Amino acid sequence: MLQTQNPANDNLQVYIDGQLLHRDAAKISVFDSSVQGGDAVWEGLRVYNGRVFSLDAHLDRLYDSAHALWFQRVPERDTVIDAIRQTLLANDMRNDVHIRLTLTRGRKITSGMDPRLNQAGCTLIVLAEHKPPVYPESITLATSSVRRNPPMSVDSKIHHNNLINNILAKIEANQAGADAGLMLDKDGFVSEANGVNVFCIRRGEVRTPYADYCLPGITRATILSLCQDHGIPHQEARISVSEFYTADEVFTTGTMGELTRVRAIDGREIVNKHGASVLERVQAHFRELTRSGGTKLL
Ligand code: PMP
Repeated sequence: MLQTQNPANDNLQVYIDGQLLHRDAAKISVFDSSVQGGDAVWEGLRVYNGRVFSLDAHLDRLYDSAHALWFQRVPERDTVIDAIRQTLLANDMRNDVHIRLTLTRGRKITSGMDPRLNQAGCTLIVLAEHKPPVYPESITLATSSVRRNPPMSVDSKIHHNNLINNILAKIEANQAGADAGLMLDKDGFVSEANGVNVFCIRRGEVRTPYADYCLPGITRATILSLCQDHGIPHQEARISVSEFYTADEVFTTGTMGELTRVRAIDGREIVNKHGASVLERVQAHFRELTRSGGTKLL
């Protein structure tokens, strides 16, 4: 599974530092913290019928991440929302749109790690692209030897741009011929895949790893509350890789790909031994939420 360039995105207008610029002209300073140290936070959002899904939850996570990283001069919420609106309007975008919202610590006066060298910024970037959900009908996973960062090194609650740990897992998955890398915690329990959260369904119960090591995904939270609302048994748990191998169904969640069935992990086919698909029920409820929910910006 490899995304290709969509010609509809050839002339994108990108919001950067208060301006809307053609994608070829939208540039970032070599002194920007994101270049210097991956020192930035981000959100991926999706637009359905002109409405941004879970906008408040995404902005809350963005502001929490920026606060945890001691960002200064963070733009007001209204400024960020207006930047998203301007970008969608400039590109005439309403549907099948993915937004990558990035907030960097800003420009440094000279190269270096110290955040006190940041005397301008933050830098706000809104990159909206025509991008339907990126995953095919089903995907495969390969367990990675790279562990997901534990909170004693980098807390997964901070949605930062230091993605090397996950990129290494993705490289392993590519080498193994799988679509994504399954990342474990330091004790060997499943944490998440390199860019999405993971769920398994066993005997009708929907389970997902605690958010101790994984990103507390917005889609993940939506699925847990949707199960609650519709009386579908569910729990967060410590789950081993073999419990994933032997589950009835496995799926991933994320804004970029929505809900995607996993058909095999490390070559072990996921076989449903206990009746009707619970995933299909969950998917139908999720589709209903994206059809009717979201914040109208246009
Ligand atoms: N895990 C990781 C590592 C991610 O980067 C993402 C995407 N932001 C997710 C999970 C899914 O999160 P969400 O449902 O908020 O898009």
